Amino acid sequence: MCGPWGTYAKRSFSKLSAVLWNSSPTRHSGAAMDELQALKTRLCIIGSGPAAHTAAIYAARAELKPILFEGWMANDIAPGGQLTTTTDVENFPGFPDGIMGMELMDRCRSQSLRFGTEIFTETVTKIDFSSNPFKIFTDSKSVIADAVIVATGAVAKRLKFPGSGDGHEGGFWNRGISACAVCDGAAPIFRDKPLSVIGGGDSAMEEANFLTKFGSRVFIIHRRDTFRASKIMQSRTLTNLKIEVVWNSEVVEAYGDGVKGVLGGLKVKNVVTGQVSDLKVSGLFFAIGHEPATKFLDGQLELDSDGYVVTKPGTTHTSVKGVFAAGDVQDKKYRQAITAAGTGCMAALDAEHYLQEIGSQEGKSD
Ligand SMILES: Cc1cc2nc3c(=O)[nH]c(=O)nc-3n(C[C@H](O)[C@H](O)[C@H](O)COP(=O)(O)OP(=O)(O)OC[C@H]3O[C@@H](n4cnc5c(N)ncnc54)[C@H](O)[C@@H]3O)c2cc1C
Repeated sequence: MCGPWGTYAKRSFSKLSAVLWNSSPTRHSGAAMDELQALKTRLCIIGSGPAAHTAAIYAARAELKPILFEGWMANDIAPGGQLTTTTDVENFPGFPDGIMGMELMDRCRSQSLRFGTEIFTETVTKIDFSSNPFKIFTDSKSVIADAVIVATGAVAKRLKFPGSGDGHEGGFWNRGISACAVCDGAAPIFRDKPLSVIGGGDSAMEEANFLTKFGSRVFIIHRRDTFRASKIMQSRTLTNLKIEVVWNSEVVEAYGDGVKGVLGGLKVKNVVTGQVSDLKVSGLFFAIGHEPATKFLDGQLELDSDGYVVTKPGTTHTSVKGVFAAGDVQDKKYRQAITAAGTGCMAALDAEHYLQEIGSQEGKSD
């Protein structure tokens, strides 16, 4: 497991942006507006996961010459998105033997570049969607764009306690601890082993039920004495004989199996009695929600109550004409690489139609 400061980030830095970084002393210094490098484009794509790169591949092949901001540790995620935080990806079509998350995203990026996408390793800090053309700002650039695709993803929330971090921190992240049961649940290390899920909402119920296909037993560890999940999900969960709920409890430590260096168990504290007990499990899945990366939009697009961008059903159109959204930033249900890529394709096609409709040509945004 490479983690955010792994090879992808280093490669991005050295290959792509050495010139940019070296020649942009104002990059992180908060340059005054009139010092910003001004660019213009028909289409600006914000993000760097499967959604953004699929959009870029389609848009670049349609000769829209997109500019893509891949972010620099935006929300603590490396360019390339959430898949850079995992190891094997086994459910992305075309890779029968699986592919490392980093490598998959590296390949997506190369494909975007191959067709002429201009990529900047910078985080978008501000946008102005009040009139068209739109304005997009980073610390060193301002871009004027006829259309924008927002594909900034979401961050799976994780809890911090001793043993929850990466291997280099002595923890078991990606070695038994995960934030995605659908992605990782079928891995051999979880087969026929006792597993656990932290959470109390619909996602936690869904993940626990899903994991019963693989684990010998699934414990749901929940801080309270009731779930906030819907009644139907609760009933499905509480009647599943493979699931046991550990009420009023929180994990205070994860420890290893002492042999292979993978998760061996958890120390679980009862928040009512204060008693700490031992729970031997080989898997721990956080199901405590995601945070969509929408703060930088500053209320200029309609968001739902959880902060996800609202799109018109069956399309990628947002509340602002000419601004489209793709991937996890607008999807709280499926949240998979392939669905993100699918909506990235839709966003590029929607943007292309929109640009044709408004008669946008190269240079129009002058
Ligand atoms: C641990 C883990 C394992 C997973 N495993 C699998 C799996 O095996 N198979 C699968 O299909 N799915 C898996 N997923 C889910 C999958 O990673 C996501 O569904 C997918 O990456 C979403 O893609 P996206 O394009 O919407 O955005 P993301 O992958 O979330 O990427 C968005 C990118 O945009 C950047 N960004 C954010 N804000 C800005 C900004 N203001 N300016 C510029 N850039 C910005 C972020 O830093 C990030 O790099 C996994 C997720 C996790 C967390």
